[in-house]
Amino acid sequence: MIAKVIVDVPSRQTDRPFDYEVPSEMQSWLEVGSRVGVPFGGRVLQGFVIGIAESASVDMSRIKPIAELLDAVPPLLPDMIELSRWMSEKYCCSWTQALQAMIPAALKGKEEKKIGLADPSDTGMLPDELADWIGKSDGLVKLDALLARFPEHVTAVKQALGDGTLVQQSSIKDRLSVKMVLTVFLPESRLSLEQALEHIPARAAKQREALAFMYEHGESMPLQDMVQASGASAASIKALVEKELLVLREVESGRDPYADRNFTRTKPLQLMEGQQAVFSRIAEALEEGEGRTMLLHGVTGSGKTEVYLQSIQYCLEQGRQAIVLVPEISLTPQMVERFKGRFGEAVAVLHSRLSSGERFDEWRKIRSKRAEVAIGARSAIFAPFERIGLIIIDEEHESSYKQEESPKYHARDVAVRRAKQHGATVILGSATPSMESYAAAKRPAQGGGAPALLPMPERVGGRPMPEVEVVDMREELRGGNRSMFSRKLHAKLQERLERGEQSVLLLNRRGYSTFVMCRTCGHTASCPHCDISLTYHQKTRVLRCHYCGHAEQAPKECPACSSEHIRYFGTGTQRVEEELAKLFPGIRVIRMDVDTTTEKHSHEKLLKRFGERQADVLLGTQMVAKGLDFPYVTLVGVIAADTSLHLPDFRAAEKTFQLLTQVAGRAGRHELEGEVVIQTYTPEHYAITTAQQHDYAAFIGEELRHRSMMGYPPYCRLVLVTMSHEQLPLLVSVSSRFAAELKELAEHEGLLAPLGSGLPRALEVLGPVASPIARMKDRYRFQVVIKYRGSIDASALVRRALQPFTEGPPQKNVTFSVDVDPQVIL
Ligand code: ADP
Ligand code: ZN
Ligand code: ZN
Repeated sequence: MIAKVIVDVPSRQTDRPFDYEVPSEMQSWLEVGSRVGVPFGGRVLQGFVIGIAESASVDMSRIKPIAELLDAVPPLLPDMIELSRWMSEKYCCSWTQALQAMIPAALKGKEEKKIGLADPSDTGMLPDELADWIGKSDGLVKLDALLARFPEHVTAVKQALGDGTLVQQSSIKDRLSVKMVLTVFLPESRLSLEQALEHIPARAAKQREALAFMYEHGESMPLQDMVQASGASAASIKALVEKELLVLREVESGRDPYADRNFTRTKPLQLMEGQQAVFSRIAEALEEGEGRTMLLHGVTGSGKTEVYLQSIQYCLEQGRQAIVLVPEISLTPQMVERFKGRFGEAVAVLHSRLSSGERFDEWRKIRSKRAEVAIGARSAIFAPFERIGLIIIDEEHESSYKQEESPKYHARDVAVRRAKQHGATVILGSATPSMESYAAAKRPAQGGGAPALLPMPERVGGRPMPEVEVVDMREELRGGNRSMFSRKLHAKLQERLERGEQSVLLLNRRGYSTFVMCRTCGHTASCPHCDISLTYHQKTRVLRCHYCGHAEQAPKECPACSSEHIRYFGTGTQRVEEELAKLFPGIRVIRMDVDTTTEKHSHEKLLKRFGERQADVLLGTQMVAKGLDFPYVTLVGVIAADTSLHLPDFRAAEKTFQLLTQVAGRAGRHELEGEVVIQTYTPEHYAITTAQQHDYAAFIGEELRHRSMMGYPPYCRLVLVTMSHEQLPLLVSVSSRFAAELKELAEHEGLLAPLGSGLPRALEVLGPVASPIARMKDRYRFQVVIKYRGSIDASALVRRALQPFTEGPPQKNVTFSVDVDPQVIL
């Protein structure tokens, strides 16, 4: 039996399966998807079995056996192996990287060196006590532990290693292990309580109580819980264990991050007409089970979540499992509560705020079939379910679904692919769908089926969309108001304070500066290693670079002109908070931004306080725009809408429109009506006027016109290749050669043509040019952008063009980074 193994070495030369012999004792355990330790270049490395064969593709005599099998249950399923293969091709990453993205961090094993006797029956010249100790430790010990224990035997150990009595062995150690909990059990064959009590002296009242408690409670209980619940002391339990009336054993425990919370169970709601229509079509797709993707376009407050919940219910009744993706930021207790409330224990929650142990345990709940619904951020798309029926992606337009480091995958595309494998239905939900998804859903389905667009244009209960007013801040300035609050927003905030209602204020952080500038000469502090301004951290008075981590103390005088007039721009939200305090003495503000949400659960705590009406205003960045549902919020204010409009990003208008629509949707979701005030310097911009009207169709019409004119997605697709090196001349020459190689390959296949040429399959190669961030970590950066339309496999083209640069002798370390369907071009 031969296993094909992808070994965990991140280099392009070794990015292929290697053959290993499967020792006979592993044969009945090893499967496609198993994680193994294999000898590789003198070390033992972790690898994944991606195939099993009868015979090897190379000379049998050169094949080594697998050193160890790392898990009893393979962490990956065969369909995921296939998916990883597809990812490595589509995203031009290594197969290992794709596999690594699919398993929890806890399973990313690392090599550990241990030593043991070459032949257990031959202890050679080793002192007995030392040999005994090794024997007691399962025959293998860590060298440093051995030397710490027997410092006097260093020479003997050295000698034994030298003459081969002791040998060094490598194995893979997981970053984290399963947590074991001491648990009290009733013995399997047990006496009745009366009989058992006869074995306890009458004066040992505590023991008698503890035993009675256990008989009443049932089979088993963690020791700690039992001590707490029964008031018994550990000593009395120990005495009972000695009498064999109770048994104490370690059992594997799940760290349930939600263990101490109670979720009120909720029943399905009677669906509204619009919800019912949409639900029926989803149920139909679930029945067909043909791997369809549908776009649920529902305005904010239209009741999308209830549709998700009932669709999941339907899917579970079919005996299949469901994955729900939500943006990291929406994984608030509110959202989790809605799912746990409906499906209870069957829900596993995966997000980055959990410790890696908690994540691992939630993941094992899925793998061991204790959970049937996984809800989580991007990487939850890899939940190891065997029969997926439904994948829901809420707020599908969110850019956080794209991973920005390798593998640079988009969870939406991976979801569509995984759904095809399982015959599962994909529901993309949003009030403001991405251009790409909207265009795809509008296209008539193949075979004349209905287009996959599911509209829910009305709010639940016929509630009106909030009234949106746009305030021209230029007018304010002309009218002598230099504050960051317009007179209108000021008045409305005052009103809310008087009525005891709540407000949400959004500051679009992307536009607000946190930098340092000299007011005399205009010098700004920038990173010495990257072409980017340093960010000012007010708390520590440190200037930091976001890209390379460079940090320096904020200067007292300008390094360029020695002027003392230095202006520090703190985080925008801090300034707004200060101004609020000045304008409305006594106002209670909760500020939510990167500074106030660094601690675990801080995000949740802040929202909880706001929900309990312990504050009048929730002030924050993008974080406050999403998913919140508070009944007393009747005012939403946007401090400066256009700060994100003028960024060099072809999605700037789309992102602005989405953000405004999302945040406006936080107001008036319940009985009380809501109002929205948007402050802007460009009130005539279509992203703002259409957001004011809640008119997605008008926005998209205008935006599509722009995209078509400029040749941007969804009218074409993009691949961004960024190259970097310390030496500019070398980078210039390598990047030009790469672009030429690409053009030649495209030309050869008859693809190279301007996008406007009318050719159904056309591809353009733009560049090389310096990247917008031209230097990072002391390396210069150049980019090539490939624009194409039609069914071209651009990834394959890029992989082929890369070959001469990555195979053979390394090209003096020019780094290539490929981003397929990039979100930003930086
Ligand atoms: P969305 O996610 O589309 O913004 P939600 O799912 O949060 O909207 O729903 C908005 C509100 O309407 C929630 O408070 C929800 O409980 C309520 N709701 C949803 N569906 C129904 C229904 N069928 N009957 C009554 N209330 C509903
Ligand atoms: Zn200066
Ligand atoms: Zn830097």
